[in-house]
Parts: sequence; structure tokens; C-alpha cells
Amino acid sequence: MTHRVAVVAQNPGLPFVFDAAGRAGCLITLITLPGVRVPAGLPNVESVAELDIFGDPGGAHAWLEGRHARQPFDAVITLYDVTGPFTAQAAQRLGLRGIRPEVARICRDKYRQREAMRQAGLDVPGYRLIDPVTDIGSQVTGLRFPLVVKPVNGMASQGVTRADNLADLKVAVDLVQSINSAHLAPYADAGHAERTGVLAEEFIDGPEYCVEAVSSPQGTTVLAITDKGNLRGPYFEERTFITPAPLDPGTSARITDAVHVSHRQIGIDFGASHTELRLRADGTPVLLEIGARMGGSGTVHYLVETATGIDFLGAVLHQAMHGDLPALHPARRRFAADWIVPVTGHGMYAGLAGADEVRRHPATRMMLELMRPGTKVPAWPRWVGYPAFVLSSHASYQDCLDYHAWLEDTIRITWA
Ligand code: ADP
Repeated sequence: MTHRVAVVAQNPGLPFVFDAAGRAGCLITLITLPGVRVPAGLPNVESVAELDIFGDPGGAHAWLEGRHARQPFDAVITLYDVTGPFTAQAAQRLGLRGIRPEVARICRDKYRQREAMRQAGLDVPGYRLIDPVTDIGSQVTGLRFPLVVKPVNGMASQGVTRADNLADLKVAVDLVQSINSAHLAPYADAGHAERTGVLAEEFIDGPEYCVEAVSSPQGTTVLAITDKGNLRGPYFEERTFITPAPLDPGTSARITDAVHVSHRQIGIDFGASHTELRLRADGTPVLLEIGARMGGSGTVHYLVETATGIDFLGAVLHQAMHGDLPALHPARRRFAADWIVPVTGHGMYAGLAGADEVRRHPATRMMLELMRPGTKVPAWPRWVGYPAFVLSSHASYQDCLDYHAWLEDTIRITWA
């Protein structure tokens, strides 16, 4: 019997979910956002439908319901942050499994996440929702600089800016407001996320990690903790991921506990999640963000599988189709890394210099070029997409660091 899964807004340049569908025994209906080009021959894709999820959510739901009536889906999932609320609603309307839409909405709203974590008794940075039209200084009394200013419903670090003083803060609030109206308002206006807006919060000065986990009504299982380095701003373009992070057992346990508490509080009881956090000087984790979806549009599947042997996407697809999670037995294997080619400039993207050399390196497992030549790339912290991911595997953490240093010297964007 063929199982059918609708996958919403998946980047067709990332192979992981398409490959996993073959292992999980299902065929994908790929739902794309308007204007996304889909290459021919994607494995395990039986059909592609372009739906204007943000411009016409009612029409998108109606299309899915019509298709489901004729040829039922076993699951509808997304690995893309901004389509979490739409997908949760769609699953509910189709009678399929998923997190509650309200849970998905909280995960798209950084202010509501802060509130939830504070209520759960977790350590949170001091934070305020900023009203850009009234005096900004008076709104941050009680917060200690440096602050981080960010869109409430942002993604990929776009607009996220460190402000060391009141003058920086005003500039950052204006910048985030302009990014909100140019790029993020449609997600909020379509009723998927509850609001756009500007959040200011205290800068947590410590190393950053992300946590991949899978949840069920029985609880949340942490699969891997990944080292994300220690970006200090003023902007936070994501760069390196190394799994597993070299952490002592006490710190790993504190991080795992915080993930469990936050997931219970928010109500994440199904599917993959991706949590980002920093450590305070005393080792207390401060959760910065929880996404109720797989990280990196599925790229973390590579990290988890290489580091632990667990078929993360296979497990998530199985749960979405059949309800239960397969047994997850992590085994310590190799160090896995993802290096995001940094933008470090702006202009018309022409391609990557050094890509062939990187492909030939014995540690390189995959080089995923995601940006199309001709793309107009703005200067950070504005964002139009990741240029490329370099996935590798290593015997030791130090080997990962050495390889990333070599990548820094070897690969760069060329501008037209
Ligand atoms: P996005 O969802 O756009 O990625 P985040 O809130 O996750 O936004 O912030 C992006 C990055 O900015 C984080 O991964 C982190 O490096 C940095 N950052 C955000 N908030 C803080 C903070 N309060 N303290 C220190 N760094 C932060």
C-alpha cells in the first residue's frame, strides 16, 4: 500500500526529506510557495502543487482538502519554520496528526516563547516588546545593555542586531521595523503567526548550541546537541554546526532538562523540534528559540544520523504516518559538521570560487549549492537565502575545527 505525505514549502535543493521518503515507504506531494522552481526528477515525489499559502490560505486549505478527499494523505508535514502554523491547521482540518495550531503559533512568536519559558521557571533574558512609535529608551528601563533586537516572527537571523547603547538600539529598531514590513508582515497578516513586531532582549554572552529532539505525548527525546560557536554580533549570520558538541555530562543534562520543561510548557507533543540556546557563565542554559519543526529544513538530519546513527527523518515520517515513534537508539559515531558559506558582501551573486576543491576534500560529504547565480543579495542583516551548505564528517572535534578553518580560506562567493 502506498502512503502519501504532503510536504509543505520544502526547499527542493535539500535532498534529505526526499531520500527519507523512500526509506519510510511513502510518496511526497510537494507543496511549493509561488515562484519556487522545482527540478525534474526529485526522488519519491509523485506530484508538485504551487499553493499561495500566505496570499490565499483559504484557497490552499481548500486545495489540500479536495486532494485529500480524492486521494487521502497519511500525513502533512513541514520542515520550514514559517509554514508551521499553516501546516498544523491543515493537519487538523484533514484529521491528520500534528501539533496543535496554537502550539505552532507560539513557536512562530518569540515574545510568546519568552512568556512561556518565564512561566515555566526557565532562565530567560530580560525582554520587552518594543513600540517603535513611542520613546524607545523608556521602554527598555530595567534591561541591561548590550541588547539584541529582532523581529518577533523572524527566521535565519535576519534583522537580528546587537545594540550596545541607546543610539544603536534606535537604529536597530528602525532596521527591524523595515525588515518586518518588507519581508515578515505577510506571514503575520495571513493569520499564521499572530503578530510581527520588534523584540529587544538582553544579550547572553556565552557559547551557543542547538538541540534536535523528537516529541510524542509520552515526552520529548533529545537526539543531539550541536555546537554553534559563539557569534558576538552585531549581526548573527549562522555559520558552523558541529555534532555532537563537546559538553560535560552535567551541562548536557541541564540543556536536556530545559528542553523537556520548555516543550511541556509550550505543548510540543509531536514531531521534530529545533531549540537554540546559549549558556550563561555559570552554565545555565538560556533558550533563545524553539522551532516546532526539523532544523535547517532537514539538514540536521545529516548531523543527527552521522553523529548517532539515528534515521531522524525516517523516524519523523514514520510517526507522522503511523502515530508511533520507532525505537531510537543513539550510538556514538563520528563528528558531523555543517558549514554555511557566509555572505560577507552584497551584490549580484555569481557563484562560488573553490567549490570543486571543497568537493574533492576527503572529509566533505555533500556540498549543497542553494543560491541561484543572478540572485540580488543585500548586505546583512537582510537575508534572501543561504548560499551553500558544506556537510562533512570527521573523527574528532578538532578535525572539524581544522576543516572549517580550511573552508574559510578556500571557498568564497564571487559577485557579478
Ligand atoms: P532567528 O529565528 O531569526 O534565527 P534568533 O532569535 O534565533 O532569530 O536569533 C538568531 C541568532 O542571534 C541566535 O542564533 C544567536 O546567535 C543570536 N541571538 C539572538 N538572541 C540573542 C540573545 N538574547 N543573546 C545572544 N545572542 C542572541
